[in-house]
Amino acid sequence: MKARVHAFTFLFLAVACGTARGQDIRVGVYTLRPPAEMTIRAADGMLRWRTCATCVDSTGEEVGVRASGSQIIVGEAGQTPELFLAGRYRLEAAHLQPISAHFPLRVAARDGRLQIIATLPVEEYVAAVLTAETGDRTQAENMKALAVAVRTYAVRFRGRHAAEGFDLCDNTHCQVVSWTTPNPGAVAAAEATKGMLLWYGGAPAETYYHQNCGGTTASASEVWPGTDAPYLRTHADPYCILPRLQTWESTITVAEIDTALRAAGLDVPRGWTTLEIAARSESGRAALVRLDGGSPPSVEISASTFRFAVDRALGWNKIRSDLYNVRVDGDRLVFSGRGTGHGVGLCQDGAEEMAREGKDYKQILSFYYPGTELGARPALAWQIRTGDRFELQTLAPDQDSAILPIAERLLTEDEQAVGWRLPFTVHLQIYPSLDLYRDATGQPGWVAASTRGETIRLQPLAELRAKDILESTLRHELFHLLIESRARPGIPIWFREGLVLYLSGASPSAPGASGSMTESQMESIFENSQDREELGRAYAAAQSRVAALVAQYGKDAVLGWLSSGLPAGVSASSGARPQH
Ligand SMILES: [Zn+2]
Ligand SMILES: [Zn+2]
Repeated sequence: MKARVHAFTFLFLAVACGTARGQDIRVGVYTLRPPAEMTIRAADGMLRWRTCATCVDSTGEEVGVRASGSQIIVGEAGQTPELFLAGRYRLEAAHLQPISAHFPLRVAARDGRLQIIATLPVEEYVAAVLTAETGDRTQAENMKALAVAVRTYAVRFRGRHAAEGFDLCDNTHCQVVSWTTPNPGAVAAAEATKGMLLWYGGAPAETYYHQNCGGTTASASEVWPGTDAPYLRTHADPYCILPRLQTWESTITVAEIDTALRAAGLDVPRGWTTLEIAARSESGRAALVRLDGGSPPSVEISASTFRFAVDRALGWNKIRSDLYNVRVDGDRLVFSGRGTGHGVGLCQDGAEEMAREGKDYKQILSFYYPGTELGARPALAWQIRTGDRFELQTLAPDQDSAILPIAERLLTEDEQAVGWRLPFTVHLQIYPSLDLYRDATGQPGWVAASTRGETIRLQPLAELRAKDILESTLRHELFHLLIESRARPGIPIWFREGLVLYLSGASPSAPGASGSMTESQMESIFENSQDREELGRAYAAAQSRVAALVAQYGKDAVLGWLSSGLPAGVSASSGARPQH
């Protein structure tokens, strides 16, 4: 019992402080038609509420809340600005669908209407939106793709209603939330993609989606001028038209349309008789419609404004999309079109078909949002600068490009030292922070660089400069590339590392350690150890071993062993090498 009260207090604190915890989303409830009054009934046990963050709790099985201007009246008590409530409850308001939920609520009022805000953990929000948006689509991979789109959209547009005290509304303006028990497929899809977002340029992508694009998606700029994300450009969608091309036809009288346009406050010519499509967008959708035959004789209206006005007055299924033709039939207009929705981003019917054909959610997302990256964190937006022998990948090309001439010089010097040329362009990746470097390379902060394949990944240049190891680090890594480009399989790590250190002319960091390790000890440390000091000793031992080999056999012979293999005598004798 005590634990329960404690958890409850925590919820209150989280709600009362005004900012939701990082992972929560504050959703406006009944935002389309906010009620003036409602009853909140306990669905399981008792409700608890308080009228200010520091007030004493009230408990009960139900509480009535009524708006009065910008105040609320709670039960029999007087006016108060707000109410915080927790517990399992059922909201009941006249003419509105009852809502059963358990998310902490904050209730306030504005202009005589209740303002109800529920705080949902992100994944529960995703499941609630999926339940509302997926309709009869059931493919698991489609649900997962949409879960990522819904979550990304929420994170990207969270706070667009901040002036009203919440993050997102619960209707089509943001994302429709189902306040019923989420369906199991939705919960599973949210869980399977937990925390995953789509990223572009270091920010969450604008993951618009719609029901059916009719075979051609729309560019975002066609629908919302000023938005021009490269991953939201028109393209053909062969998938949504495979099961069947979704077509629709609506017949509406000129008088009905005239009334709808005036109700929306549009300037409509008196006595107009015909409507034509005056301009089409890149994807073939109506962009402008023109009303002719009245006074003034011709007026153009944006097609999306036209559609919203007609649908708001006559029902959301009258003009389902902007992808239509129109003809005049006496005093009526006949619209025949394809698809449902704005057509931007993910086409849900197309995604369902892709999933049915065996595509997974990642393939679906990259088809509808090409160029975005999936992950829990932003992929870094690398910018490329190209030198003679190098390709620089950086987030700050202005400050990092200075490395290119240094790298070119060091590579030339290293190549002269070994006597062969590196047969590829080196990728130099410079991390903007130590944290990102550690995350990406899996290396601790004291490892200045990491080389894999043809890519050298470096700590921030400022870090390396501050320790005065920028040039030595780069020289070392370039020697690694040169050595690895010649080393045949099976050449031991101690030999490669020792050779690199010998060639770099580094002074041994632990001179006393030279010769104190057998080759198999060195090899085992290089393979397994994460211990900084132990590795330091192994490096020093490898370096002095290689120096001794060069002194005995000559540098050219030792370098030649990279491709021919170490002579048996060298390995065998050195394994038993006594200390000196
Ligand atoms: Zn909204
Ligand atoms: Zn489509």
